[in-house]
Amino acid sequence: MKNINNVVGNKSNELELIHSYQDACSNKEFKMYVDSLGIEEEILMKYTSSLEDSYMEYTNCRKCKSLACCKNKVIGYRYTPEKEKNIIKFSYTACKWNLLALKENAYKENLELFDMPIEIKEASLKEVYTDDKSRIPIIKYFKEFMDKYQKKENSKGLYLTGSFGSGKTYLIAALLNEMAKKKTQCALVYYPEFLRSLKSSFQTDYSEKFDFIKKSPVLLLDDIGAENESNWSRDEVLGPILQYRMQNHLPTFFTSNLTLEELELSLATTSSGVDKVKARRIIERIKQLTITMELIGKNRRN
Ligand code: ADP
Ligand code: MG
Repeated sequence: MKNINNVVGNKSNELELIHSYQDACSNKEFKMYVDSLGIEEEILMKYTSSLEDSYMEYTNCRKCKSLACCKNKVIGYRYTPEKEKNIIKFSYTACKWNLLALKENAYKENLELFDMPIEIKEASLKEVYTDDKSRIPIIKYFKEFMDKYQKKENSKGLYLTGSFGSGKTYLIAALLNEMAKKKTQCALVYYPEFLRSLKSSFQTDYSEKFDFIKKSPVLLLDDIGAENESNWSRDEVLGPILQYRMQNHLPTFFTSNLTLEELELSLATTSSGVDKVKARRIIERIKQLTITMELIGKNRRN
């Protein structure tokens, strides 16, 4: 036989649930919200407090104009009820602004950075300064490059030389971000640091690192010429990478503060002596892979 106290206890709990649900429903907007869920009242009644939370987030979302204005507990998400058999489960679902941002940022998955500032993924051709006429031929070249790449025609990359801080890295990154939006995998590599890191990984992941830049469908070697030259970096790293990329028609971009002539001089003189022939060979490969352009301008670094 049931314990009479339990029966009375259960009854009063049930009454409490009904009352608090009815109280909440005195707010017409809340009532309309719960009606719109298409869930039976006997079930709804058990979740009044959570439904009120989800209603609050629902009204926040209705007034919201952007992710930056989000008033919900978890930014970009809405606490949402869903019926499962005879219970309601609440979960956080991404709001429309969050979904839009996720879609807009999806291209970043196609960009591999090596020791480059993360903000470089935001560089955009639309934002490129137009106050400076020296950018116009470069942008024109970018358009031709993208056209050819889409048509699977071979197109040379750029060797972009020019003064410190003129915006070389930003410009090439803006192009590669555009390519990433078209689903092309691109790698942006700060070359001096890459070399240092490669050198210290002989015992570990040397070949993965090496292959990463050798085989990337589109590659930027940023700030070439700023590294300390050695026979190893010239003949065992740069040479084979360029050779592979030439043979496989993989677009390759370079930025440098040095002209090709200056780079040739720098490559010729290593800690082990002078070798003009090997330096020339590298320069010939760069010439095969790129056309040279210059970006001279004021230093835009703060
Ligand atoms: P460089 O590679 O020629 O030394 P950077 O590309 O690093 O120069 O540019 C120098 C600074 O100017 C960086 O902080 C970069 O983010 C900024 N910059 C360059 N071009 C633009 C641009 N079009 N819009 C916004 N910032 C830019
Ligand atoms: Mg740079």
